[in-house]
Amino acid sequence: MAEQSRKQAIQTLLSTEQIHARVQALGAQITADYSASVEQGRELVVVPVLKGSFVFAADLVRGIDLPMTMEFLGVRSYGDETESSGVVQITHDLKRSVEGKDVLLVEDIVDTGLTMQYLLKNLATRNPASVKVASFLHKPARAKVEVPIDYLGFTIEDVFVVGYGLDHAQQHRNIPYLGVLENG
Ligand code: 5GP
Repeated sequence: MAEQSRKQAIQTLLSTEQIHARVQALGAQITADYSASVEQGRELVVVPVLKGSFVFAADLVRGIDLPMTMEFLGVRSYGDETESSGVVQITHDLKRSVEGKDVLLVEDIVDTGLTMQYLLKNLATRNPASVKVASFLHKPARAKVEVPIDYLGFTIEDVFVVGYGLDHAQQHRNIPYLGVLENG
């Protein structure tokens, strides 16, 4: 019964198969792009931005065939439930220095771009060798600032999506596909 009502409430936008294929392709691209610097002895640090990117990051890193480390950034964006204000609080900071390392930030979605703009500025002050961005989703219709996305999963329309790590009021993160809340 619960399964039935969940299916009625959430319409599939991207299936698990579509997501898997795209994320594996991104992993292969990242492997190719970083293999020279890793061979030269530089550390690749993958930094998921919590909470929303945890599922994407877990799949993405398993598609990266290189030695690498992970650090986590927790952020809270001040704003209403569905729109960020660009004022970002870091709720969990990196535990190791990223100085001289190649940082790959992993986001669930770039919407207005304000969160990523803040994070890129913040990371730059820590003197990494490079910073690149992998984002599972991009909603260009709502962009307020342009931020570079080096590895993009999918571009989507202006709809509020849940599943594959993304929430609505902290729910639905465990849904294995990407969906749209019909009454959300
Ligand atoms: P931005 O600062 O780019 O506007 O916001 C990015 C953050 O807003 C994302 O990391 C995510 O937490 C949240 N967000 C933006 N659009 C959506 C959406 O469609 N669904 C969900 N669940 N979160 C979203």
